[in-house]
Amino acid sequence: MVLLAGPCLAACTSSGGTPSAAPSPTLTPTSSPPTAPASTPPVTPSPTTTPAAIDYGGQGVRWPRVARSAPPPALGAVVTLDRVQRGDGGTLAAGLTLPRVGGTAAAPVVLTPCGTRTLVTGSLRRIPPSGPHDVLVVIDPGHGGRAEGTHAPDGTREKDVVLDLARRAAVDLRGRVGRVVLTRDRDLEATIGFRVALADALRADLALSVHLNASPETTRSSPGTSAYGSVADPAGRRAAGVVYASVRHYLEQWTPTVRRWAANPDSGALYRLGRNGQDYYGLLRQAHVTWVIAESAYLSAPREAALLARPAVRAGLAGALADGVVAVTSADTPGSGWRRPLTRPADPPAPPLPGRCVDPA
Ligand SMILES: [Zn+2]
Repeated sequence: MVLLAGPCLAACTSSGGTPSAAPSPTLTPTSSPPTAPASTPPVTPSPTTTPAAIDYGGQGVRWPRVARSAPPPALGAVVTLDRVQRGDGGTLAAGLTLPRVGGTAAAPVVLTPCGTRTLVTGSLRRIPPSGPHDVLVVIDPGHGGRAEGTHAPDGTREKDVVLDLARRAAVDLRGRVGRVVLTRDRDLEATIGFRVALADALRADLALSVHLNASPETTRSSPGTSAYGSVADPAGRRAAGVVYASVRHYLEQWTPTVRRWAANPDSGALYRLGRNGQDYYGLLRQAHVTWVIAESAYLSAPREAALLARPAVRAGLAGALADGVVAVTSADTPGSGWRRPLTRPADPPAPPLPGRCVDPA
């Protein structure tokens, strides 16, 4: 069975509940982009929700919508310029970017990467939230620490490749958008709550989570690239289409190597529904700003892994992700590639990680 989002997403973006498979649309493969609105909503809503049809990106496609909780205050973030003291004991390492979730500007309470609220004191630099004349983008390399994500056939770990891609994308974005903040710039474990809180506290204009996909069908001939947006966020649905279009455009040059990137039925700008018609993935379900999860290629597939091992391809793919971010935040580009996703049961529970999450000290 092809996994729509693979173990990598099951392990790192669906926390905060145990989403179950919800009534999902049956597959109706469409050429991309679809040209006509669905005559009926693609899902059967649960009796407890009343999703209203929405439109995104001017495409005329209707999607369910669910209510969101009130956003937390936009308190910005802090960067630890040196090792700092935690109010609950111990220290936090230099160079961490932490969402401020309380306290005062002089004595901030932050959320640590492992998800603990604590006062921090020491040498800190404040990052104010995005404003009306500002563009702030959060780039989120998936996984990290104990959570390695998926693996290439040669053992290369998703967490390392996506960190490299995210760093490259952040560099590429310098001077092209106002500010860029990475959720992690090293191999550290970060909870979904931490990632969501950082983008929320900064009121990011766009947050992009960088992942690579996995499939047991490692020998299949059709590669796949996809981007997920939230069913509750029309801007996110558009953004997923824009990022998908940019990445697919770049990858299509490798068609002689891995054949058509959009041929796989799991390719496209997608959503995935969980319980009660909400987003399956916790990252999208919990966020209050626009997120896109990019699953740019299958790291588990030998030919795609071989491409991703080439520095030039990593640079090109990171550039395509950056181009997508610029197009989302600075233009009215509508994007393309939206399609109804395959019906999927919930991913099997990820095996527990050894040990416990440890914040860099
Ligand atoms: Zn992943």
